[in-house]
Amino acid sequence: MFKNYKKVGILGGGQLGKMLSLAAGNWHLPIYFLDKKKNFPAGRFSDHFVEGDFKNYDDVYAFGKQMDIISIEIEHVNTEALHQLKKEGKTIHPDPEKLDIIKDKGLQKQFYVKHNLPTSDFQLFDNEQIIKEKLQSGELPYPIVQKTRGEGYDGKGVAVIRSEEDLSKLLPGASLVEDLVDIEKELAVIVAKNESGEIKAYPVVEMEFHPTANLVEFLKCPASITSGQEQTAIKIAKETIRKFDICGLLAVELFLTKNGEIIINEVAPRTHNSGHHTIDSCQTSQFEQQIRAIMDLPLGSTEMKSASIMVNLLGADGFTGDAFYDGFEKCMEVEGAHLHFYGKETTKPFRKMGHCTVVDNDLEAAKQKARFIQNNLIIRTN
Ligand code: ADP
Repeated sequence: MFKNYKKVGILGGGQLGKMLSLAAGNWHLPIYFLDKKKNFPAGRFSDHFVEGDFKNYDDVYAFGKQMDIISIEIEHVNTEALHQLKKEGKTIHPDPEKLDIIKDKGLQKQFYVKHNLPTSDFQLFDNEQIIKEKLQSGELPYPIVQKTRGEGYDGKGVAVIRSEEDLSKLLPGASLVEDLVDIEKELAVIVAKNESGEIKAYPVVEMEFHPTANLVEFLKCPASITSGQEQTAIKIAKETIRKFDICGLLAVELFLTKNGEIIINEVAPRTHNSGHHTIDSCQTSQFEQQIRAIMDLPLGSTEMKSASIMVNLLGADGFTGDAFYDGFEKCMEVEGAHLHFYGKETTKPFRKMGHCTVVDNDLEAAKQKARFIQNNLIIRTN
């Protein structure tokens, strides 16, 4: 029987799951999802949505028992159940052992050191009190970046401590402390590997930050870097997936430092925000690539069809409630703008409600169009 008749189950049913489901639809391949509510983004596009908690052992185990291949769209899932399912012969991508390492930012950093992968220097601490004492005694020099070892996303588990005045910003609990990197650019590479060992990387993406608000504003592909830097970034990403020996996708977030080094910030073993543009601007979307990789099918071409700018469509500040999309028609007129809404019922300030990829080989023109979309598409309550 063709491999795509295997039952694929995904832990998590948010927007990444929805886009995965749409990609699988081209091949009429049913994907199963586990998440809390059927009205989550993936639930509307899959007849195979199971309500349950991906952090709960019993829910993950019961769901996984029904599947042939299990994968994820979020890393904070119950890996104990995945270890048990693996013992019972299920195919799990990424491997739960590797997932345990990646979920803990401290173990992740130790992995880089052990495998000679470039990353900034760091130390691990059991609690914030010890960090405070070491900073106060001068044993640990300012500035530092503190990151909680467990769950954190969109910078929520990160504190930059530049001087004594910032000590109150120290985050509680076990954490890692690393050097404050002098960043020239923030880059990301999505790389895929299948069980047969085939590896393919997408072109490097550059995150452009808003000049005043400390938020990623645009994701630009290709990145404005030299071809030598592009090759180095891709080499590091491929090396990283090879060393982790993960099947599926790995999003590798990198810093290009002011002195020209490229080092790893962190990784995510799944589809990623920095790969959304691939739907509209590359030969194979990251979602189709994940399906290919976890089912051990040949990987698709990662070639870029056009340069692009991707912009996240966030809930407008000051509005919480039933989502209403203002300016949709005006934005539809923009040539090369591909709008994607996730179908989340409720909007909240800065919640990721959708994204727009503008494809245009003139990146400056693409940026202008992306800015137009940002200013005209307002997600608020009615
Ligand atoms: P999250 O997992 O929450 O996205 P990250 O580790 O990616 O957290 O950090 C969020 C942001 O904080 C990065 O995109 C970068 O701008 C900044 N940052 C993180 N680590 C460092 C560092 N060592 N030096 C300087 N800036 C950093």
